Amino acid sequence: MSNYKSELVGVLGFPVAENPTIVMQEAAFKDLGLNWRYLTVEVRPEQLAQAIRGVRAFNMQGINLTIPHKIAVMEHLDDIAPDAALIGAVNTVRREGDKLIGENTDGKGFIESLKEASVDPVGKTAVILGAGGAARAIAVEMALAGAKNLIVVNRSQERGMELVDLMNSKTNAKAEFISWNGAYRIPGETDILVNATSIGLYPDTTSLPDIDYEGLSASTLVCDVIPNPPETIFLKEARKRGCKTLNGLGMLVYQGTIGFKMWTGTEASPDVMKEALARAFNV
Ligand code: NDP
Repeated sequence: MSNYKSELVGVLGFPVAENPTIVMQEAAFKDLGLNWRYLTVEVRPEQLAQAIRGVRAFNMQGINLTIPHKIAVMEHLDDIAPDAALIGAVNTVRREGDKLIGENTDGKGFIESLKEASVDPVGKTAVILGAGGAARAIAVEMALAGAKNLIVVNRSQERGMELVDLMNSKTNAKAEFISWNGAYRIPGETDILVNATSIGLYPDTTSLPDIDYEGLSASTLVCDVIPNPPETIFLKEARKRGCKTLNGLGMLVYQGTIGFKMWTGTEASPDVMKEALARAFNV
């Protein structure tokens, strides 16, 4: 008998049209011959509760959440994974029987991408620029993965302090907050520097995080979370100083492979996803 029924996953966001996740997830379904579809769905904030009821009614296998739903979705789910609860946001929902479970794969994706640079967070000192959703996910997962010192540099003191207090009270990492006003000098002993702000994101691609680039040490691995464009001028400036760099595509791809595994139970090929994204971004 033929089976015409596709399994459904997707992303809910507002706006959502520029979200490229469909490209990599559908490439991975095709690669594995899975009859799965990834839907890019525009959901207004006031209709999120109904949309989640729709996810249940359509028996969807899972869903990604993007701006502005990552926090708001939590009250509509049946359970939240411990690290997502610490981060305080959900970017991936998976199904366990009739239950919808909230997960956060952003930080896990970042940690996985570090492996490409052969870097293990254990015992490391990291400087994180930013204290928003991406920064929180990265800081929590770095701390859970054994990072020793985390320095959070943020413009808004309230957000920065909240993240540092969370790290110091709920993880074994030692965290410090630096108020970001003027060019920040990265401490020489920094192993990993991450731009987890939206500075440099398309279309504002000429903006550069305000740090003292001359003071960058060549032994620091410099990472950017910005996926579009993958080659930010932040990374170019770091390479001029001899630093190894890691762009935001790795984080995007690996948070996707982790979600893919949660939904399908099968490993996706990161290379297939990367190639699909590279074609989409024309790089
Ligand atoms: P948020 O809005 O939650 O946080 C933005 C952060 O950037 C805040 O810390 C904010 O500081 C800071 N910031 C923004 N503009 C400036 C500025 N001009 N000067 C100083 N600080 C600034 O966004 P997200 O954390 O959700 O997203 C951040 C970036 O991460 C985006 O570019 C997004 O595309 C990327 N991302 C990448 C992923 C990937 O897989 N590669 C996954 C998720 C996100 P303040 O608190 O002071 O406002």
